[in-house]
Amino acid sequence: MRFGINTLDDIDVKDKTVLCRIDINQPVDRATGTLKDTARIEACIPTLKELSEKGAKLALLAHQGSDIEYNNFWTTEPHSKVLTGLLGREVRFIDDVCGPAARGAIKALNRGEILLLDNVRFVSEEQTLFETRLLLSHEDQAKTLLVRKLAPLADLYVCDAFAASHRDQPSLCGFEQLLPSAMGRLFEEEFCVISGIMENPDRPCVFVLGGAKINDAFLMMSAVLAGGAADRVLTGGLVGEVLLWADGKDIGEPARVYIRKEGYEGLVDAAKELLAKYRDKISMPNDVAAVDNGKRAEFPLGKIPADSLILDIGTGTAKQYQQIVRSAKTVFVNGPMGVFEDPYTETGTKMVWDALGDTAAYTVIGGGDSITATKKYGKTGAISYICTGGGALIRFLTGEELPVVKALRHGSKIKQT
Ligand code: ADP
Ligand code: MG
Repeated sequence: MRFGINTLDDIDVKDKTVLCRIDINQPVDRATGTLKDTARIEACIPTLKELSEKGAKLALLAHQGSDIEYNNFWTTEPHSKVLTGLLGREVRFIDDVCGPAARGAIKALNRGEILLLDNVRFVSEEQTLFETRLLLSHEDQAKTLLVRKLAPLADLYVCDAFAASHRDQPSLCGFEQLLPSAMGRLFEEEFCVISGIMENPDRPCVFVLGGAKINDAFLMMSAVLAGGAADRVLTGGLVGEVLLWADGKDIGEPARVYIRKEGYEGLVDAAKELLAKYRDKISMPNDVAAVDNGKRAEFPLGKIPADSLILDIGTGTAKQYQQIVRSAKTVFVNGPMGVFEDPYTETGTKMVWDALGDTAAYTVIGGGDSITATKKYGKTGAISYICTGGGALIRFLTGEELPVVKALRHGSKIKQT
Protein backbone atom coordinates (compact mmCIF):
# COMPACT_ATOMS: atom_id res chain seq x y z
CA MET A 1 0.00 0.00 0.00
CA ARG A 2 1.36 3.42 -0.97
CA PHE A 3 -0.52 6.73 -0.85
CA GLY A 4 -3.59 4.75 0.26
CA ILE A 5 -3.53 2.68 -2.94
CA ASN A 6 -2.73 -1.02 -3.36
CA THR A 7 0.40 -1.82 -5.35
CA LEU A 8 0.93 -5.05 -7.28
CA ASP A 9 2.46 -6.43 -4.06
CA ASP A 10 -0.93 -6.25 -2.35
CA ILE A 11 -2.99 -8.32 -4.77
CA ASP A 12 -2.96 -12.00 -5.69
CA VAL A 13 -3.39 -12.32 -9.44
CA LYS A 14 -2.65 -16.01 -10.07
CA ASP A 15 -5.43 -17.51 -12.23
CA LYS A 16 -7.42 -14.31 -11.71
CA THR A 17 -8.98 -12.31 -14.52
CA VAL A 18 -7.41 -8.86 -14.31
CA LEU A 19 -8.69 -5.83 -16.22
CA CYS A 20 -5.72 -3.54 -16.68
CA ARG A 21 -6.09 0.04 -17.96
CA ILE A 22 -2.93 1.28 -19.64
CA ASP A 23 -2.09 4.52 -21.47
CA ILE A 24 -0.52 3.62 -24.80
CA ASN A 25 -1.88 6.66 -26.61
CA GLN A 26 0.81 7.66 -29.14
CA PRO A 27 1.04 10.06 -32.06
CA VAL A 28 -0.28 8.32 -35.17
CA ASP A 29 0.85 8.83 -38.75
CA ARG A 30 -2.54 9.15 -40.39
CA ALA A 31 -1.25 8.51 -43.90
CA THR A 32 0.25 5.11 -43.09
CA GLY A 33 -1.77 4.23 -39.97
CA THR A 34 1.43 3.56 -38.03
CA LEU A 35 2.60 4.81 -34.63
CA LYS A 36 5.18 7.59 -34.65
CA ASP A 37 6.46 6.80 -31.17
CA THR A 38 6.32 3.85 -28.78
CA ALA A 39 7.64 5.38 -25.54
CA ARG A 40 4.38 5.01 -23.62
CA ILE A 41 3.95 1.43 -24.80
CA GLU A 42 7.47 0.64 -23.56
CA ALA A 43 6.73 2.28 -20.22
CA CYS A 44 3.90 -0.09 -19.30
CA ILE A 45 5.84 -3.28 -20.11
CA PRO A 46 7.10 -3.95 -16.54
CA THR A 47 3.53 -4.07 -15.20
CA LEU A 48 2.26 -6.32 -17.98
CA LYS A 49 5.26 -8.63 -17.67
CA GLU A 50 4.83 -8.94 -13.92
CA LEU A 51 1.09 -9.60 -14.10
CA SER A 52 1.48 -12.17 -16.85
CA GLU A 53 4.40 -13.91 -15.13
CA LYS A 54 2.44 -14.06 -11.90
CA GLY A 55 -0.26 -15.99 -13.77
CA ALA A 56 -2.96 -13.37 -14.36
CA LYS A 57 -5.47 -13.74 -17.19
CA LEU A 58 -4.94 -10.25 -18.49
CA ALA A 59 -7.39 -8.08 -20.47
CA LEU A 60 -6.02 -4.67 -21.42
CA LEU A 61 -8.11 -1.52 -21.81
CA ALA A 62 -6.64 1.49 -23.62
CA HIS A 63 -7.48 4.49 -25.74
CA GLN A 64 -5.86 5.96 -28.82
CA GLY A 65 -6.66 9.53 -29.76
CA SER A 66 -5.48 11.19 -32.91
CA ASP A 67 -3.72 14.38 -33.83
CA ILE A 68 -7.13 16.04 -33.50
CA GLU A 69 -7.48 15.06 -29.91
CA TYR A 70 -11.11 14.16 -29.41
CA ASN A 71 -11.88 13.04 -32.95
CA ASN A 72 -11.07 10.28 -35.39
CA PHE A 73 -10.04 7.64 -32.91
CA TRP A 74 -7.75 4.92 -34.12
CA THR A 75 -7.90 1.23 -33.41
CA THR A 76 -5.43 -0.17 -30.88
CA GLU A 77 -4.52 -3.01 -33.24
CA PRO A 78 -1.04 -1.61 -34.13
CA HIS A 79 -0.31 -1.33 -30.40
CA SER A 80 -0.89 -5.06 -29.92
CA LYS A 81 1.90 -5.78 -32.39
CA VAL A 82 4.30 -3.43 -30.60
CA LEU A 83 3.36 -4.96 -27.24
CA THR A 84 3.90 -8.46 -28.63
CA GLY A 85 7.37 -7.49 -29.83
CA LEU A 86 8.38 -5.80 -26.59
CA LEU A 87 7.03 -8.53 -24.30
CA GLY A 88 8.26 -11.43 -26.41
CA ARG A 89 4.90 -13.10 -25.98
CA GLU A 90 1.70 -12.77 -27.92
CA VAL A 91 -0.66 -9.95 -27.03
CA ARG A 92 -3.81 -10.90 -28.86
CA PHE A 93 -6.00 -8.13 -30.25
CA ILE A 94 -9.76 -8.25 -30.60
CA ASP A 95 -11.70 -5.62 -32.54
CA ASP A 96 -14.37 -5.25 -29.91
CA VAL A 97 -14.45 -3.38 -26.60
CA CYS A 98 -17.19 -4.90 -24.45
CA GLY A 99 -19.52 -6.72 -26.85
CA PRO A 100 -20.02 -10.51 -27.03
CA ALA A 101 -16.76 -11.09 -28.96
CA ALA A 102 -14.67 -9.22 -26.38
CA ARG A 103 -16.40 -10.91 -23.47
CA GLY A 104 -15.99 -14.34 -25.06
CA ALA A 105 -12.27 -13.69 -25.56
CA ILE A 106 -11.85 -12.54 -21.95
CA LYS A 107 -13.63 -15.67 -20.65
CA ALA A 108 -11.39 -17.86 -22.80
CA LEU A 109 -8.13 -16.41 -21.38
CA ASN A 110 -5.70 -18.87 -19.81
CA ARG A 111 -3.13 -18.24 -17.09
CA GLY A 112 -0.52 -15.70 -18.28
CA GLU A 113 -2.31 -14.83 -21.51
CA ILE A 114 -2.80 -11.22 -22.60
CA LEU A 115 -5.63 -9.75 -24.64
CA LEU A 116 -5.83 -6.14 -25.85
CA LEU A 117 -9.34 -4.84 -26.38
CA ASP A 118 -10.07 -2.21 -29.00
CA ASN A 119 -10.04 1.54 -28.28
CA VAL A 120 -12.28 2.23 -25.26
CA ARG A 121 -13.24 5.55 -26.84
CA PHE A 122 -15.25 3.61 -29.43
CA VAL A 123 -17.78 3.28 -26.61
CA SER A 124 -19.69 6.53 -26.56
CA GLU A 125 -19.93 6.93 -22.79
CA GLU A 126 -16.15 7.11 -22.58
CA GLN A 127 -16.11 9.99 -25.07
CA THR A 128 -19.04 12.00 -23.83
CA LEU A 129 -17.63 11.96 -20.33
CA PHE A 130 -14.57 14.06 -21.09
CA GLU A 131 -14.00 16.32 -18.15
CA THR A 132 -15.15 19.38 -20.06
CA ARG A 133 -18.55 17.92 -20.91
CA LEU A 134 -21.05 15.72 -19.17
CA LEU A 135 -19.60 14.59 -15.89
CA LEU A 136 -20.79 11.49 -14.07
CA SER A 137 -19.99 10.63 -10.49
CA HIS A 138 -17.77 7.60 -10.03
CA GLU A 139 -20.81 5.64 -8.80
CA ASP A 140 -22.63 6.47 -12.03
CA GLN A 141 -19.58 5.62 -14.12
CA ALA A 142 -19.87 2.13 -12.61
CA LYS A 143 -23.29 1.88 -14.29
CA THR A 144 -22.04 2.62 -17.82
CA LEU A 145 -22.07 -0.09 -20.46
CA LEU A 146 -18.32 -0.74 -20.41
CA VAL A 147 -18.22 -1.34 -16.66
CA ARG A 148 -21.52 -3.25 -16.51
CA LYS A 149 -20.39 -5.63 -19.25
CA LEU A 150 -16.78 -6.20 -18.20
CA ALA A 151 -16.65 -5.94 -14.41
CA PRO A 152 -18.65 -9.19 -13.85
CA LEU A 153 -15.99 -11.11 -15.82
CA ALA A 154 -13.08 -9.81 -13.76
CA ASP A 155 -11.64 -10.44 -10.30
CA LEU A 156 -9.39 -7.39 -10.15
CA TYR A 157 -8.79 -3.99 -11.72
CA VAL A 158 -5.30 -2.55 -12.18
CA CYS A 159 -4.64 0.96 -13.46
CA ASP A 160 -1.21 1.74 -14.88
CA ALA A 161 -2.37 4.76 -16.91
CA PHE A 162 -0.81 7.58 -14.90
CA ALA A 163 -0.75 9.76 -18.04
CA ALA A 164 -4.56 9.53 -18.18
CA SER A 165 -5.16 9.88 -14.44
CA HIS A 166 -6.61 13.40 -14.81
CA ARG A 167 -9.47 11.97 -16.89
CA ASP A 168 -12.77 11.27 -15.17
CA GLN A 169 -14.03 8.43 -17.37
CA PRO A 170 -15.56 4.94 -16.97
CA SER A 171 -12.48 2.95 -18.07
CA LEU A 172 -10.44 4.87 -15.49
CA CYS A 173 -12.75 5.57 -12.55
CA GLY A 174 -15.72 3.19 -12.93
CA PHE A 175 -14.26 -0.27 -12.23
CA GLU A 176 -12.80 0.76 -8.85
CA GLN A 177 -16.35 1.12 -7.55
CA LEU A 178 -16.92 -2.63 -7.99
CA LEU A 179 -13.61 -4.46 -8.13
CA PRO A 180 -10.65 -4.73 -5.76
CA SER A 181 -8.09 -2.41 -7.37
CA ALA A 182 -4.40 -1.60 -7.48
CA MET A 183 -2.02 0.69 -9.35
CA GLY A 184 0.56 -0.75 -11.73
CA ARG A 185 4.33 -0.22 -11.43
CA LEU A 186 4.50 2.75 -13.82
CA PHE A 187 1.67 4.51 -12.01
CA GLU A 188 3.41 3.87 -8.70
CA GLU A 189 6.76 5.11 -10.00
CA GLU A 190 5.44 8.34 -11.54
CA PHE A 191 3.36 9.06 -8.45
CA CYS A 192 6.41 8.57 -6.23
CA VAL A 193 8.71 10.73 -8.35
CA ILE A 194 6.42 13.72 -8.54
CA SER A 195 5.10 13.56 -5.00
CA GLY A 196 8.74 13.36 -3.91
CA ILE A 197 9.41 16.63 -5.73
CA MET A 198 6.34 18.26 -4.22
CA GLU A 199 6.93 17.09 -0.68
CA ASN A 200 10.60 16.64 -0.01
CA PRO A 201 12.96 17.64 -2.85
CA ASP A 202 16.73 17.88 -2.47
CA ARG A 203 17.46 21.60 -2.34
CA PRO A 204 17.89 23.90 -4.05
CA CYS A 205 14.91 22.77 -6.10
CA VAL A 206 14.45 24.64 -9.37
CA PHE A 207 11.41 24.63 -11.65
CA VAL A 208 12.02 25.53 -15.29
CA LEU A 209 8.70 26.59 -16.81
CA GLY A 210 8.37 27.67 -20.42
CA GLY A 211 6.34 26.77 -23.47
CA ALA A 212 2.93 27.95 -24.47
CA LYS A 213 0.49 26.60 -21.85
CA ILE A 214 0.64 29.72 -19.73
CA ASN A 215 -2.42 29.03 -17.63
CA ASP A 216 -1.08 25.65 -16.50
CA ALA A 217 2.38 27.08 -15.92
CA PHE A 218 1.01 29.85 -13.67
CA LEU A 219 -1.10 27.41 -11.67
CA MET A 220 1.93 25.15 -11.19
CA MET A 221 4.15 28.09 -10.30
CA SER A 222 1.69 29.32 -7.74
CA ALA A 223 1.29 25.84 -6.17
CA VAL A 224 4.99 24.99 -5.98
CA LEU A 225 5.93 28.41 -4.63
CA ALA A 226 3.10 28.53 -2.10
CA GLY A 227 3.76 24.94 -1.02
CA GLY A 228 7.47 25.63 -0.69
CA ALA A 229 8.63 22.94 -3.17
CA ALA A 230 10.31 25.46 -5.48
CA ASP A 231 13.28 27.51 -4.31
CA ARG A 232 13.48 29.17 -7.71
CA VAL A 233 11.44 29.25 -10.92
CA LEU A 234 13.18 29.97 -14.22
CA THR A 235 10.79 31.18 -16.90
CA GLY A 236 10.98 31.26 -20.68
CA GLY A 237 8.76 30.82 -23.72
CA LEU A 238 5.42 32.60 -23.66
CA VAL A 239 5.29 32.09 -19.89
CA GLY A 240 8.31 34.37 -19.49
CA GLU A 241 6.91 36.93 -21.93
CA VAL A 242 3.64 37.32 -20.03
CA LEU A 243 5.59 37.79 -16.79
CA LEU A 244 7.76 40.46 -18.42
CA TRP A 245 4.64 42.21 -19.70
CA ALA A 246 3.11 42.08 -16.21
CA ASP A 247 6.33 43.55 -14.85
CA GLY A 248 5.89 46.59 -17.10
CA LYS A 249 8.68 45.65 -19.54
CA ASP A 250 8.26 46.46 -23.22
CA ILE A 251 8.13 43.09 -25.00
CA GLY A 252 7.22 44.70 -28.33
CA GLU A 253 3.87 45.00 -30.06
CA PRO A 254 4.12 41.72 -32.09
CA ALA A 255 4.49 39.68 -28.87
CA ARG A 256 1.56 41.50 -27.27
CA VAL A 257 -0.54 40.90 -30.41
CA TYR A 258 0.39 37.21 -30.37
CA ILE A 259 -0.43 36.80 -26.68
CA ARG A 260 -3.77 38.57 -27.22
CA LYS A 261 -4.55 36.40 -30.24
CA GLU A 262 -3.88 33.25 -28.21
CA GLY A 263 -6.33 34.54 -25.60
CA TYR A 264 -3.72 34.98 -22.84
CA GLU A 265 -3.91 38.71 -22.19
CA GLY A 266 -6.16 38.03 -19.20
CA LEU A 267 -3.26 36.19 -17.58
CA VAL A 268 -1.20 39.35 -17.27
CA ASP A 269 -3.09 40.08 -14.04
CA ALA A 270 -2.36 36.57 -12.74
CA ALA A 271 1.30 37.21 -13.57
CA LYS A 272 1.20 40.48 -11.61
CA GLU A 273 -0.12 38.64 -8.58
CA LEU A 274 2.61 36.02 -8.84
CA LEU A 275 5.25 38.73 -9.02
CA ALA A 276 3.73 40.61 -6.09
CA LYS A 277 3.98 37.51 -3.91
CA TYR A 278 7.09 35.73 -5.14
CA ARG A 279 9.23 38.18 -7.10
CA ASP A 280 12.44 37.14 -5.34
CA LYS A 281 12.00 33.54 -6.46
CA ILE A 282 10.97 34.06 -10.09
CA SER A 283 13.61 34.56 -12.78
CA MET A 284 12.54 36.27 -16.00
CA PRO A 285 14.56 36.68 -19.21
CA ASN A 286 16.75 39.77 -19.34
CA ASP A 287 17.50 39.35 -23.00
CA VAL A 288 15.49 37.80 -25.83
CA ALA A 289 15.86 36.64 -29.42
CA ALA A 290 13.82 37.20 -32.58
CA VAL A 291 14.39 36.28 -36.21
CA ASP A 292 15.43 39.15 -38.44
CA ASN A 293 15.99 38.61 -42.18
CA GLY A 294 16.36 34.88 -41.69
CA LYS A 295 18.92 35.27 -38.87
CA ARG A 296 18.88 35.21 -35.08
CA ALA A 297 18.87 38.68 -33.56
CA GLU A 298 19.29 39.21 -29.81
CA PHE A 299 18.14 42.20 -27.80
CA PRO A 300 18.46 43.23 -24.18
CA LEU A 301 15.20 44.16 -22.46
CA GLY A 302 14.24 47.72 -23.23
CA LYS A 303 15.89 47.51 -26.68
CA ILE A 304 13.43 45.23 -28.46
CA PRO A 305 12.57 46.76 -31.86
CA ALA A 306 8.88 47.65 -32.17
CA ASP A 307 8.31 45.21 -35.05
CA SER A 308 10.24 42.13 -33.79
CA LEU A 309 8.42 39.05 -32.51
CA ILE A 310 10.18 37.41 -29.57
CA LEU A 311 10.69 33.71 -30.15
CA ASP A 312 13.38 32.68 -27.67
CA ILE A 313 15.28 33.75 -24.58
CA GLY A 314 18.66 35.37 -25.25
CA THR A 315 22.01 33.66 -24.68
CA GLY A 316 22.75 35.90 -21.67
CA THR A 317 19.62 34.64 -19.92
CA ALA A 318 20.33 31.07 -21.05
CA LYS A 319 23.82 31.25 -19.49
CA GLN A 320 22.38 32.41 -16.16
CA TYR A 321 19.80 29.63 -16.28
CA GLN A 322 22.57 27.11 -17.04
CA GLN A 323 24.43 28.13 -13.89
CA ILE A 324 21.32 27.83 -11.74
CA VAL A 325 20.47 24.40 -13.21
CA ARG A 326 24.05 23.23 -12.67
CA SER A 327 24.11 24.27 -9.02
CA ALA A 328 20.65 22.87 -8.21
CA LYS A 329 20.00 19.53 -6.50
CA THR A 330 16.57 19.00 -8.08
CA VAL A 331 15.28 20.36 -11.39
CA PHE A 332 11.78 19.95 -12.80
CA VAL A 333 11.19 21.06 -16.38
CA ASN A 334 7.99 21.68 -18.30
CA GLY A 335 7.98 23.72 -21.49
CA PRO A 336 10.80 24.82 -23.84
CA MET A 337 12.46 28.25 -23.62
CA GLY A 338 11.59 29.23 -27.19
CA VAL A 339 10.42 27.97 -30.56
CA PHE A 340 13.01 25.18 -30.46
CA GLU A 341 11.59 23.61 -33.63
CA ASP A 342 13.30 26.37 -35.66
CA PRO A 343 17.14 26.46 -35.84
CA TYR A 344 17.38 30.23 -35.21
CA THR A 345 15.22 30.12 -32.11
CA GLU A 346 16.33 26.87 -30.50
CA THR A 347 19.43 28.27 -28.78
CA GLY A 348 17.80 29.04 -25.41
CA THR A 349 16.20 25.61 -25.15
CA LYS A 350 19.35 23.85 -26.37
CA MET A 351 21.56 25.66 -23.84
CA VAL A 352 19.24 24.95 -20.90
CA TRP A 353 18.90 21.33 -22.00
CA ASP A 354 22.73 21.08 -22.22
CA ALA A 355 22.87 22.06 -18.55
CA LEU A 356 20.14 19.53 -17.74
CA GLY A 357 22.32 16.93 -19.41
CA ASP A 358 25.41 17.58 -17.28
CA THR A 359 24.06 18.84 -13.95
CA ALA A 360 24.47 16.54 -10.98
CA ALA A 361 20.91 17.41 -9.93
CA TYR A 362 18.01 14.98 -9.99
CA THR A 363 16.24 16.03 -13.19
CA VAL A 364 12.61 15.39 -14.11
CA ILE A 365 11.00 16.34 -17.41
CA GLY A 366 7.34 16.28 -18.44
CA GLY A 367 5.33 17.56 -21.40
CA GLY A 368 5.17 16.41 -25.02
CA ASP A 369 7.28 19.18 -26.53
CA SER A 370 9.80 19.12 -23.68
CA ILE A 371 10.30 15.41 -24.29
CA THR A 372 10.67 16.06 -28.02
CA ALA A 373 13.36 18.67 -27.22
CA THR A 374 15.09 16.16 -24.92
CA LYS A 375 15.27 13.66 -27.77
CA LYS A 376 16.33 16.32 -30.28
CA TYR A 377 19.33 17.30 -28.14
CA GLY A 378 20.24 13.69 -27.30
CA LYS A 379 19.65 14.14 -23.55
CA THR A 380 17.17 11.32 -22.94
CA GLY A 381 19.72 9.10 -21.21
CA ALA A 382 21.02 11.95 -19.06
CA ILE A 383 17.65 12.93 -17.54
CA SER A 384 16.87 11.21 -14.24
CA TYR A 385 13.18 10.74 -14.93
CA ILE A 386 10.97 11.41 -17.95
CA CYS A 387 7.27 11.44 -17.06
CA THR A 388 4.82 9.88 -19.50
CA GLY A 389 2.09 12.18 -18.21
CA GLY A 390 1.47 15.66 -19.64
CA GLY A 391 -1.95 16.88 -18.48
CA ALA A 392 -1.95 14.51 -15.50
CA LEU A 393 1.45 15.68 -14.34
CA ILE A 394 0.43 19.32 -14.58
CA ARG A 395 -2.81 18.69 -12.67
CA PHE A 396 -0.85 16.90 -9.97
CA LEU A 397 1.65 19.75 -9.66
CA THR A 398 -1.12 22.32 -9.37
CA GLY A 399 -2.14 20.47 -6.22
CA GLU A 400 -5.43 19.04 -7.50
CA GLU A 401 -6.54 15.53 -6.57
CA LEU A 402 -6.48 13.34 -9.66
CA PRO A 403 -9.81 11.53 -10.31
CA VAL A 404 -8.10 8.19 -10.89
CA VAL A 405 -6.15 8.49 -7.63
CA LYS A 406 -9.41 9.08 -5.80
CA ALA A 407 -11.04 6.09 -7.53
CA LEU A 408 -8.04 3.82 -6.86
CA ARG A 409 -8.15 4.72 -3.17
CA HIS A 410 -11.78 3.63 -3.19
CA GLY A 411 -11.03 0.38 -5.05
CA SER A 412 -8.12 -0.38 -2.72
CA LYS A 413 -10.59 -0.69 0.15
CA ILE A 414 -12.56 -3.44 -1.59
CA LYS A 415 -11.23 -6.75 -0.27
CA GLN A 416 -10.10 -9.45 -2.66
CA THR A 417 -11.98 -12.70 -2.17
P1 ADP B 1 5.12 20.95 -23.36
O1 ADP B 1 4.52 20.20 -24.53
O2 ADP B 1 6.53 20.55 -23.09
O3 ADP B 1 4.23 20.93 -22.15
P2 ADP B 1 4.07 23.45 -24.38
O4 ADP B 1 3.14 22.67 -25.24
O5 ADP B 1 3.51 24.26 -23.28
O6 ADP B 1 5.22 22.50 -23.81
O7 ADP B 1 4.89 24.48 -25.27
C1 ADP B 1 5.65 24.07 -26.39
C2 ADP B 1 5.44 24.98 -27.57
O8 ADP B 1 5.65 26.34 -27.21
C3 ADP B 1 6.42 24.69 -28.68
O9 ADP B 1 5.71 24.32 -29.85
C4 ADP B 1 7.18 26.01 -28.88
O10 ADP B 1 7.44 26.30 -30.23
C5 ADP B 1 6.22 27.02 -28.30
N1 ADP B 1 6.92 28.23 -27.85
C6 ADP B 1 7.96 28.31 -27.02
N2 ADP B 1 8.35 29.58 -26.84
C7 ADP B 1 7.55 30.34 -27.60
C8 ADP B 1 7.45 31.75 -27.87
N3 ADP B 1 8.28 32.61 -27.29
N4 ADP B 1 6.48 32.16 -28.72
C9 ADP B 1 5.65 31.27 -29.29
N5 ADP B 1 5.67 29.95 -29.08
C10 ADP B 1 6.62 29.48 -28.25
MG1 MG C 1 2.99 20.69 -25.91
